[in-house]
Amino acid sequence: MTAPRIGGMLVGYWRVCPRKAWYSMRGLWMEQESEAVALGRLLDRTSYRRRRRPALIEATAPDGTPLVAKLDGVDLRAGVLHETKKGRSCEDAHVWQVRFYLWVLRLAGVTGPGGRPLRGQLDYPALRRTEPVALELEHEGHLAEVVSALAACARQDVPPERHPRRSFCRRCAFEALCYG
Ligand code: SF4
Repeated sequence: MTAPRIGGMLVGYWRVCPRKAWYSMRGLWMEQESEAVALGRLLDRTSYRRRRRPALIEATAPDGTPLVAKLDGVDLRAGVLHETKKGRSCEDAHVWQVRFYLWVLRLAGVTGPGGRPLRGQLDYPALRRTEPVALELEHEGHLAEVVSALAACARQDVPPERHPRRSFCRRCAFEALCYG
C-alpha cells in the first residue's frame, strides 16, 4: 500500500492507538466513529457559523510525506484556528490534531494578521469551554516523527500491537475487530 496523505485525525488516532490509525489508513471507519465526527461537524456548523470559514490546506513533511489539514474553521481576522469537539475524553488526541494543523499551516506559509503564526483553539460547545493550543518547536519535531511513523505503518501488512490496556479498548469502535 502506498502511503496516504496524512491528516489531523490520523495523528490523533496515532496518539491514542497506532493500531486504530492503521485500520483507518486501510479505509476502515466504524459507524460509531463516523457518528462522532458527524456530530462534531454539526456542533461546529450550529455553534460558530458566522465568524469562521472551513479550509483545506496541503503541505509536505520534511521526509516528503504529503500532508493535508481539513480545518473546521479559521478566523483569519483574529488569527485563530478552531477545532470543535463534542467532549474531552480524548483531549490529548485533540490537542495533537490542532498542533498538526498549525504545523501544516506553518509548512504551507499561511500566517495570521501581521505575518504572525496562527493560534489554535479547541472548542467544546456542549461543555461551553475553550482550550488554547500552542505549537512549540519541540512539538514540530514530534509531529515530524509521528508522520514518518504513520507513513511506515501504512506500508505494514499487519496491524501494530493492540493497546496495552484492555479496559481502554472497551470504549473503542474497533473493539470487535481487535478482539472479535
Ligand atoms: S480496540 Fe484497542 S487495540 Fe483495537 S484499535 Fe481500539 S484501542 Fe486500539
